[in-house]
Amino acid sequence: MISPALLALLRCPSCGSTELDNQSDAVVCRVCSITYPKRAGYIDLMPRGVDYDYVSKYVTEEEQLSEELDYRDLAPAVLAAGVRNRTTVRLLNLNKNDVCLDNACGNGKFAVWNAHLVKTMVGNDPATMFADVALAQIDLTQADSRNLPFDDNVFDKAFSLDVLEHFPIDVIDAYLAEQARVLKPGGQFLAMSNTREKSTLQPLVSLSRWIGKQFVKAGVYDFEREKLRKSDHIKALETWEDVLAAFERAGLKPVKVVFWNSVFTSFVEHVLMKLGEAWAGRSKPSTSSSKSVAISDGTDREIRARRRLRGSLDRKGGLYYFLMLVTWFMELDIWLFGSLRSGSYFIVVEKPRP
Ligand SMILES: [Zn+2]
Repeated sequence: MISPALLALLRCPSCGSTELDNQSDAVVCRVCSITYPKRAGYIDLMPRGVDYDYVSKYVTEEEQLSEELDYRDLAPAVLAAGVRNRTTVRLLNLNKNDVCLDNACGNGKFAVWNAHLVKTMVGNDPATMFADVALAQIDLTQADSRNLPFDDNVFDKAFSLDVLEHFPIDVIDAYLAEQARVLKPGGQFLAMSNTREKSTLQPLVSLSRWIGKQFVKAGVYDFEREKLRKSDHIKALETWEDVLAAFERAGLKPVKVVFWNSVFTSFVEHVLMKLGEAWAGRSKPSTSSSKSVAISDGTDREIRARRRLRGSLDRKGGLYYFLMLVTWFMELDIWLFGSLRSGSYFIVVEKPRP
């Protein structure tokens, strides 16, 4: 959606002016005269006249990915996404006074799940694969994270989940510098991402992976969709020291850190859920769906399973409560091993007051 609260936060991403004219079908900059069209549910605030070396594959391969990522409908916050979400809400202490940014929001699921907790929730992404409910319920902008269309010092809170691992180092620096600029002094930003570091509990994680591999060999399921999601992970921040250095360069001060050693999580993801998925997606529907682009059988099966389960999840029936139980089981990783250094991390940083 495009609310008055959103319009009040904006600045021109091309020239930086806050003198914007709110017209019925567009926002127009009074200084550089660039017109930013309003689309159904969001504003196109991509900066004009800027050429970037790096463009996310979510922007360049939008059509192919949109088929495979199945982004339009949102499930409730369960499983790994549930752990991410619960930990984010807890660490950031989201509350009713907060103006909050989901910086690189993807389909907007985390923004949607938490919009009721804050005063204003804004999602921004350069790709426009927004979920239908996100378009309807939260403020959305399409913009490049290196050139955010928001004024200085406007957000109390912000978060970025599974974003940094996609960017080369110069993009990370530009991304964090912009994030710092739009945060209020004393405002907090949470990033969840991962380095190349292995946890000391890695043997336990590997065991789940090994069990998972036996099922793949037996043809029960595959990890095609996971591979696809991780296909452009660069992990330019290779170590935890690299992470801290990047935030220091952006002038953001660490205040909380929780590591995610995925012992329980990987057992659920590599064995338990994949078995459930294989079962729920077991047969193809008789009317073959018309796919505009080719996707693998495994991806197809997984999407089919998700769609079947989603109806039941939305009604908050038994399956929902079962998956919440599994989510809490996965979250044991956070409670038991959160201080043990590993590749996956949540970090909360603060913009210092002058
Ligand atoms: Zn302008």
